[in-house]
Parts: sequence; C-alpha cells; structure tokens
Amino acid sequence: MVDRFDCIIIGGGIAGLQAAIQLGRYKHRILVIDAGDGRSTLCRSYHNILGYPEGISGQALRKAGQEHANRLGVEFVHGTAAKIENTGAGEFLVRMEKINTAFQGRRLLFATGVLDRFPPFPELYPCLGTSVYVCPDCDGYETSGKTTIVMGAGDAGANMALAITYWAEKVIYINHEGTPVSKQLLRKLTEKQIEMHEDRISSILADHSCFQGVQLKDGQRIYAEKGFLAFGGNLVRSQLAGELGVKLHHNRHILADSRTKMTNVKYVWAAGDIAAHSEQVTIAMGDGSQAAIWIHKSLVAD
Ligand SMILES: Cc1cc2nc3c(=O)[nH]c(=O)nc-3n(C[C@H](O)[C@H](O)[C@H](O)COP(=O)(O)OP(=O)(O)OC[C@H]3O[C@@H](n4cnc5c(N)ncnc54)[C@H](O)[C@@H]3O)c2cc1C
Repeated sequence: MVDRFDCIIIGGGIAGLQAAIQLGRYKHRILVIDAGDGRSTLCRSYHNILGYPEGISGQALRKAGQEHANRLGVEFVHGTAAKIENTGAGEFLVRMEKINTAFQGRRLLFATGVLDRFPPFPELYPCLGTSVYVCPDCDGYETSGKTTIVMGAGDAGANMALAITYWAEKVIYINHEGTPVSKQLLRKLTEKQIEMHEDRISSILADHSCFQGVQLKDGQRIYAEKGFLAFGGNLVRSQLAGELGVKLHHNRHILADSRTKMTNVKYVWAAGDIAAHSEQVTIAMGDGSQAAIWIHKSLVAD
C-alpha cells in the first residue's frame, strides 16, 4: 500500500523546512523528501539574517527546522525523489531513487534549490560562507576594504569581479577555465583596475575556514583575505518539475505565481532558490511560508 500525504515537499532545505513548519501548524499530513545536499548544507555562516548578527550556519538552521517540523508531526524521508506521476484529480505519485518506495500526495511543493558549480578543491568547503562566497548581495559586504580573489570562468567571473569592486579594496580575477571574456567586459575590468590572470589554479591556500589565496599552475602564489566563486553553469534542480509540465524560465528556474507560489500545473507549488527570483535564505523562508498558506487554502477548499 502506498502512503498518502496531504502535501509532499521535495527538498528539505530552507524553503522546504519553512513550508513544512507552516503546514504542520495547519495539522496536515506532510512528508518532506530530502537528499541532504543543497546549498544550505554548504554555507558555514549566513550574515544577512534578522536575529543572527554574528551569523548562523546552514546546518544549524536545517537542524532547528527539522526539529521544529518534527514536533509538529511532519514526516521525513532521506533520499532522492526520482520520478513523479500526475495521476490526475489532485494525486501525485512520487517514486524514490534507489529505494523501492513510492509516496502519494494531494499537493506537491518543489523546494529543490540549486547546486553551484565549484572547482574540485576540497580546501574551499570549510571556507564557504566564512571567507569564500558565491552571492554578492549576501556577502559582498564581507569583502569591504579587503583584497579579494574572484575564482571563476569567462563572463560569469568577470561580472562577479566587477560587482565586488563596490566593496573590496582590491579585486583580482582568476579566469581558471580560460573561457573567453567579452571585449566589453575586458574593457570594464581594465577601467576598474582589476588584475586578471589567465591561468589555472593548482591549489587553494587556506588555514581551515580562513581563505588565504591561491597558487597558480605556473607556481605563482597570489594572496588575499577573501574569495568569491563564479563559474556559471549552476545546476537548477527543476528537471522533475519540467517533466510534470511545469513552466520554466529560460534559466530553468520554475515560474510561479507571485502571490500564491503555485505553478501553471494545478496543485504544484515552488519555493526558494528553484523559483525565479533572488537566491537568499530569507526569501526562501518567505516563499516557503507563502506557498504553505496557499497549499492550505487549496486543501481546505477541497
Ligand atoms: C557558499 C554559499 C553561501 C551563501 N551565503 C548566503 C548568505 O550569506 N545569505 C543568504 O541569504 N543566502 C546565502 N546563500 C544562499 C542560500 O544558501 C540559499 O538561498 C538557500 O539555501 C535556499 O534554500 P532552498 O531551500 O531553496 O535550497 P537548498 O538549501 O539548496 O535546499 C534544497 C534541498 O532540496 C534537496 N533536493 C533537491 N532535489 C531533490 C530531489 N530530487 N529529491 C529530494 N531532495 C532534493 C537538496 O538535497 C536540498 O536539501 C549561500 C549559498 C552558498 C552555497
């Protein structure tokens, strides 16, 4: 027999957990399916969140969110949702990868997020959110008055380097993959006196969570206090939604109604980084709550 839920939330990151808490408080039967590998598992410290002036890690927020949702009777399953069927009349069948299990839901919320494309240097991971960042709106401030290395590729990296000049004392751009940079951006980099290196990074210089710079393939060491990553080509995890007929933006983020967060497919919602808007924790929380309120309205209307 297949277990049946009022709503299945795919993704137990910030948006999914906030939605689960809100839906739990409506006393619906809620399942969160989570693969445990999202952006909120990576960031060691968020600094732009109300109530946490000293910062809070993604792991801490997730742990608190899971405990809170658990207390409200929300159920969790660890694993990856691999296939979803819309069986019609408000019933969705979600099949799992590797586990021979399926779950049925009357409503579906995608909160699957985005995976950044990072270069393969394990030394970067302890620095994420503490001295190496990905989002200028979130962490540009952290580079104030500091020498900052942007590690990136082509135009994505060049645009990040330009954005960081708003705060940083000095910006150095390492075009690690050697992807061409447009003439217009090259001109702007020169105007802003951004030092650019067309060489591969051979290693990251770091003392645990404290980024210190990079060593290039030619042996040169470049020192800095802060780092930014901008390689482009992030994985927007909207494939399952797309297969259900959910409309996607050209950048593959899910298009959802700005008021209800419902997609074009009836009874399917989207919240957090997977939806088309700026990618931040507080927005993911807001989206999750808003989607949950409208999911509740739709459940009680049935
Ligand atoms: C290094 C770094 C620093 C950041 N710093 C800041 C900051 O300072 N301030 C700020 O506001 N934001 C910051 N962000 C962005 C912030 O982390 C995201 O906006 C936030 O995590 C979005 O939450 P989400 O729930 O949409 O996605 P996520 O947190 O990525 O969660 C998505 C979840 O969905 C799960 N999932 C995906 N597909 C499936 C599937 N098929 N089946 C089951 N589960 C699935 C994943 O495993 C994951 O747990 C940072 C991000 C990074 C990487």
